[in-house]
Amino acid sequence: MVASSVLGFPRIGANREVKKAVEAYWAGKISANELTQAAADVKKSNWTTVKSKGVDFVPSGEFSLYDHVLDHSAAFNVIPKRYVGLGLSPLDVYFAMGRGRQADGVDVPASEMKKWFDSNYHYVVPEFSEETDFKLNFNKAVEEYKEAKALGIETRPVVLGPVSFLVLGKPTKDAKLGFQSVSLLPKILPVYKQLLADLKAAGAEWVQVDEPILVLDKAATLEKEFTLAYSELAPVAPKILLTTYFGRLDTNLKYVAKLPIAGLHIDLDRAPGQLDEVLAAIKITNIVLSLGLVSGRNIWKTDIQAALKLAQKAVEALGQDRVIIATSSSLLHTPVTLESEKKLTPEQKDWFSFALEKAAEVSTIAKAISGSQDAEVAKALEANKVSIEKRREFERTSDDSIRKRVAGIKPEDLDRKSPFAVRQEIQKKHLSLPKFPTTTIGSFPQTKEIRQARAKFTKGEITEKEYEDFLKKEIEEVVRFQERIGLDLLVHGEPERNDMVQYFGENLNGFVFTQNGWVQSYGSRYVRPPIIVSDVSRPRPITVKWSAYAQSVTKKPMKGMLTGPVTILNWSFPRADVSRELQSKQLALALRDEVIDLEKAGIHAIQVDEPAIREGLPLRRADWDNYLTWAVDSFKLATAGVTDALQTHSHFCYSDFDDIFPSIQRLDADVISIEASKSDMKLLNTFKHYGYSNQIGPGVYDIHSPRVPSEQEIKERLESMLSILPSALLFVNPDCGLKTRGWKETEASLTNLVAAARWARQAH
Ligand code: GLN
Ligand code: ZN
Repeated sequence: MVASSVLGFPRIGANREVKKAVEAYWAGKISANELTQAAADVKKSNWTTVKSKGVDFVPSGEFSLYDHVLDHSAAFNVIPKRYVGLGLSPLDVYFAMGRGRQADGVDVPASEMKKWFDSNYHYVVPEFSEETDFKLNFNKAVEEYKEAKALGIETRPVVLGPVSFLVLGKPTKDAKLGFQSVSLLPKILPVYKQLLADLKAAGAEWVQVDEPILVLDKAATLEKEFTLAYSELAPVAPKILLTTYFGRLDTNLKYVAKLPIAGLHIDLDRAPGQLDEVLAAIKITNIVLSLGLVSGRNIWKTDIQAALKLAQKAVEALGQDRVIIATSSSLLHTPVTLESEKKLTPEQKDWFSFALEKAAEVSTIAKAISGSQDAEVAKALEANKVSIEKRREFERTSDDSIRKRVAGIKPEDLDRKSPFAVRQEIQKKHLSLPKFPTTTIGSFPQTKEIRQARAKFTKGEITEKEYEDFLKKEIEEVVRFQERIGLDLLVHGEPERNDMVQYFGENLNGFVFTQNGWVQSYGSRYVRPPIIVSDVSRPRPITVKWSAYAQSVTKKPMKGMLTGPVTILNWSFPRADVSRELQSKQLALALRDEVIDLEKAGIHAIQVDEPAIREGLPLRRADWDNYLTWAVDSFKLATAGVTDALQTHSHFCYSDFDDIFPSIQRLDADVISIEASKSDMKLLNTFKHYGYSNQIGPGVYDIHSPRVPSEQEIKERLESMLSILPSALLFVNPDCGLKTRGWKETEASLTNLVAAARWARQAH
């Protein structure tokens, strides 16, 4: 028999119960016990529903109140000193590490978060040093395994593997120079042994050990570590299923196939091409192969017939008992269930599978490949065939005019008419900005009033006219504010946007939206990504009316504000039937029209935000060039349709782009603004090194906290920037949008910013 398995399930609850409970606990509204109970309810519901879909290996231990890597750090006593001795309960230490804590005389910042591989999930980065003293504070895997068992459900516990855990971490501040966290492996293995031996004693037959770093280039140098780890762990552990996901094993397969493991999981959604190699490598071993055929990363129904072909190949090579049908990764990245969607049309609903529906898919595939004669299985197979065929039919009805337009993109469409040096002179006359021009990144505080007005409009409690009048009033106030403070290049403040991606999705053809399709971004922050379902186009101008209105109430130049094609794509669920490149180009053409219309409406500067360009980078270096080529081309396509007089801006929320600098340069934006990182001098040196000649606005203060920077501080920052870059290159701006800030600190901070810029004009 071929078994079925799910690698992990969303831990937010079908109706965001975990968010509600966690936030209520933070607000002091419920007790720790009530929080534990709310979590237990969600876990129980996960286990029973996954089981009810006929899945053989139901995961446990992957539930989390905040983040699964943080759980692991807390369990292994990887707790940075700053959180120790504060008189907090273990649960509060855990949350303090995740989100910081500022209460009752305790004031500690949160730990750093990083993106979980190429997903939009963020994990809390563990901190290690030579002194890290691993011990098992609690055995979450065993506890949850038993919790499920008490409910009568046998599960396969999930544990983050030792090599990935160490490699995903970073050195503490006082670690020795050159310290590599993976050097702690011999120290951490005894604790892993204890954890795994306890699991075995508790009755677990299998354990899922996640080693996702095996799909990264850097794992090529970790053969020794993996060999050491698994030869120590295997003898004491339950049967180990080593899981890899989000990419291909590539050359790492050579040593992985030799590890003393009982099972190996590979991602055949992301990397179907690796199946033959893997089969050849493990054929002569006893390793069970878990086939990640049902995507854990997207929301499209699995083409079961196609999956069966791959599964058949594996069964032929290994026999039924050595094959498991699985989700490609944890289902953490997908919404819980399609059942709660009431607004999608039946046709649309039939295209998708969320986590629960995916659990049913793995079970159907496993049963079908095992030769089940069950009528239910036959029915499910037939239904899937019909759904897939209908979706294919829909896909064939592409929008020819858009397809033709993409096919007709010419190299010259990507380039501005003149080089930057020429444009700069023309723009100077048009915008008449002073030296050290001051500007902001786009959004101003999204106040309760704004959110309420939007909610009322969505519910139909106020008319469109009333809503628009409200927005105009907001915009005018924001313009007057900027004039009063003395900013040079103004913005309209983005009050009309619920979100920088959703807003554009809602105003373009080709997207659908869910009501309840939440996925965890980090901690208690969940997002509801739009879904791209068909060719993307712009039915009508989107932002022109707002920017034009803003320009009409001031003599100062107004900067238009758009989200870039790559960011819209990366923060949505993309289509699976056409390439991301095609979707990105379609978005770019829609935005190109918007940019041209903005210019026609009298706007002379337009910012196209691309904070997600970097996070879209493929996991393997070998794939970078291809991605960067179409990503940068998309940005250029969106922005190059204007006259030389139009000043294009772009914004990135980060500043670590040493390794992709030539691509940043190739964007050829007239001005780019970047994050105010502490290491920005290193970055500015990169600009210098490459002879970057377009303009740059390195954020002069951090907007992620309410702290107001002093005028002196900003001056000092400008001074150090000027020690590296010529003054003609600099814009003066905060490091990101102000939507999450309050008005009070915004006013104080921007006042200091303007004063510092005025001082710089005198001094330099
Ligand atoms: N223009 C956007 C804003 O100011 C940019 C935000 C971002 O890049 N994350 O909110
Ligand atoms: Zn930003």
